[in-house]
Amino acid sequence: MPSRYDLDRDALADLLDGEPRYRVDQVWDGLYRQLAQPAELTTLPKALRSRLDDELPAALAPVAESTDRHGDTVKWLFELDDGARVETVLMHYRDRTTVCVSSQAGCAMGCGFCATGQAGFRRQMTTGEIVEQVVRAARRARDDGRRLGNVVFMGMGEPLANYDRVWPAVERLHGDLGLSARHLTLSTVGLVPAIRRLAGEDLPVNLAVSLHAANDGLRDELVPVNRRYPLSVLMGACADYLRAKGRRLSFEWALIDGTNDRPADARELAELARTLPLPAHVNLIPLNPTPGYATRGTPRDGVERFRHQLGDLGVNATVRRNRGTDIDAACGQLAARVDLRARPAS
Ligand code: SF4
Repeated sequence: MPSRYDLDRDALADLLDGEPRYRVDQVWDGLYRQLAQPAELTTLPKALRSRLDDELPAALAPVAESTDRHGDTVKWLFELDDGARVETVLMHYRDRTTVCVSSQAGCAMGCGFCATGQAGFRRQMTTGEIVEQVVRAARRARDDGRRLGNVVFMGMGEPLANYDRVWPAVERLHGDLGLSARHLTLSTVGLVPAIRRLAGEDLPVNLAVSLHAANDGLRDELVPVNRRYPLSVLMGACADYLRAKGRRLSFEWALIDGTNDRPADARELAELARTLPLPAHVNLIPLNPTPGYATRGTPRDGVERFRHQLGDLGVNATVRRNRGTDIDAACGQLAARVDLRARPAS
């Protein structure tokens, strides 16, 4: 049975066949504008509410919820209908509220330093499962007196490896939840055909490329998909994306001690960034240890040194603020990175 956010309007109209036509608008508005559950839609007759509650089930069952000390970061562990588990993180910053969503249960990309990559791929998430993460986060943000404005696809999975479900979710977030395309960011380890497909879409979303290395030898090792789409090919696709969209491109760079944090790495990264038609922004992520990967993250002073080196080379770089989670920085890292007090979800 499709979940409540898997249905498009036509499918909802089919489900409501026999009801007055305006019921479709009422239910759609309830799900996307009011962020309500069918049982809460008091404009509907009671019998219809209860029917919809049965026939439009939620896709996500909360298993655990964690918050940081200040209540600025909320992380959920959700179970899907087949028992697969995914995570979603809501972050309140001073000037914005962002949710980081998962797009696959597990991931097949096999990046060695990533907890999700080590666990392997389980299945694609559906459009409804992706959208529902955002709706739940938006609801929580509203309860916290904030408005959810940004979505980053940097949770579990490689979003562009699930393009056919992720893109309809992006369209739903934009068209029905009213989020600006400029505030939606898709991350990728560098799936070139999908980047090219993205360049042909109408909505100008942001692209975040998980780079982590600026030479093919090291990147082959850290990000195995580089063997299929080496840096020259990836940079060509990024340049074309920038020309087509004029949107911001960011490089994600998980700093691994002694591996990709040396002066030579900064120089290679700066050279690579210079090949693009618009300046790229670099997000530096001090890597947290994961059980299957012996290498440790760059210490704090090394992170700052690397950032200064990039700055001296004319590359804008930001170190991700550590707020108990850096989930908005590197896909799949959250299983190992989040250190919040968990409690069972109600
Ligand atoms: S870093 Fe991202 S793409 Fe790589 S294995 Fe982890 S989730 Fe997948």
